[in-house]
Amino acid sequence: MKKTRKILLSEKEMPRQWYNILADMPNKPLPPLNPATREPIGPEALAAVFPMGLIKQEVATERYIDIPDEVLDLYKTYRPSPLFRAVNLEKALGTKSKIYYKYEGGNYSGSHKANTAIAQAYYNKEEGIKRITTETGAGQWGSAMSFACHHFGLELLVFMVRVSYDQKPGRKIMMKAYNAQVVASPSTMTAAGRKVLELDPESPGSLGIAISEAMEVAVQDPYTKYSLGSVLNHVILHQTIIGQEALLQMEKAGDYPDVVIGCFGGGSNFSGIAFPFLREKLLNDKNIRLLTVEPASCPKLTKGKFMYDFGDSAGMTPLLPMYTLGHNFIPEKIHAGGLRYHGAGVLVSQLLKDGFIEAKAKMQMECFEGGVLFARTEGILPAPESNYAIAGALDEARKADIEGVSRTILFNLSGHGHFDISAYEKYFEGNLPDHELTSSEVEEAISKIQLPD
Ligand SMILES: *Cc1c(COP(=O)(O)O)cnc(C)c1O
Repeated sequence: MKKTRKILLSEKEMPRQWYNILADMPNKPLPPLNPATREPIGPEALAAVFPMGLIKQEVATERYIDIPDEVLDLYKTYRPSPLFRAVNLEKALGTKSKIYYKYEGGNYSGSHKANTAIAQAYYNKEEGIKRITTETGAGQWGSAMSFACHHFGLELLVFMVRVSYDQKPGRKIMMKAYNAQVVASPSTMTAAGRKVLELDPESPGSLGIAISEAMEVAVQDPYTKYSLGSVLNHVILHQTIIGQEALLQMEKAGDYPDVVIGCFGGGSNFSGIAFPFLREKLLNDKNIRLLTVEPASCPKLTKGKFMYDFGDSAGMTPLLPMYTLGHNFIPEKIHAGGLRYHGAGVLVSQLLKDGFIEAKAKMQMECFEGGVLFARTEGILPAPESNYAIAGALDEARKADIEGVSRTILFNLSGHGHFDISAYEKYFEGNLPDHELTSSEVEEAISKIQLPD
């Protein structure tokens, strides 16, 4: 029988609801705390930075939330996204396993980030907001948000992590093309940025710093709100469109994954593909493993500590219960910029703690090797971030072959790498240093976490 390579859904078959894992989690996450009082905060505490529509989703407990028509309209320009069987990759590996991937790079932004950018811009517009501030690491989020904001008539100010601003000028230009204002972070525009620059004028920046800057600007103006591309519950909710579609596509393929894999920055693309499958496990006893792969240089899930910490470096967010390396931790300048975040989302953290998710850490050389093998077999040059998911999938296939079994593997190809050519150039030059954060470095980073008394 000929193997199906590409499994498509029609527009009509596209799911009309996002899935909220909070409804089905056996242990609900601990509440966010007010840093000053250590009391749980209510939704109103977030009102200075987010519109109510998104705050409601942040704390929502119902299982399904309808996707608004205006969001669906834009989704339909690129969704349902294709699911592929990686036939050529399987052949190159000589594996008995089946490898599927969901491709989220085929939209205007080149990554899964468009799925939440569109929703966030929409809810802000609905409440009369005029301007949004945000941070971006590798630039994918900023690009996703730029077009979404422009589409809904909102201005966008992007704080772009300095190291990416310098390494990835292409993304900067793309954001400008979509009519956004882009500033390198740390910047002199905010108190948070100036403080970092005073201590280290050469600071490469971090997502944590950029978040502080974007939030600082947002809280100063009632018509400006802040927007985050990962980590938070409402972001993860929007990304579940990926897994909702993948479930239907696997059904069409007449198959079901043994393991679902995603790379890990703050948890949104991994959760997006994995949570609908986790629902099937929790509610319908479908057996499955969920595996997430993070960089060895930023190993919050595999080496970090589960504790209350800030989501940003200046301590402007509520205290969140999560796996963290410390909110002041500045990761090495690896090329998967989207994975350089110190913490993990609250939902993923609780699920990891409860044993529903597995995590592993990998070095960047091995991941680029996997990415190049993938490009040469499947014809898509992956985002450096996605290479971590690919490396995880290759591990699973090789392990299965050693064990003499066939495994059905599904991973999320979170984006393409067309703006990451310089990282691939370094890889081909043999100039991509591996870096692993050691346990004692992790301990040191964690010991530096200072929370207010
Ligand atoms: C931002 C990004 C990631 C990491 O973020 P998550 O929230 O963990 O998904 C991964 N891949 C790509 C292509 C990204 O743009």
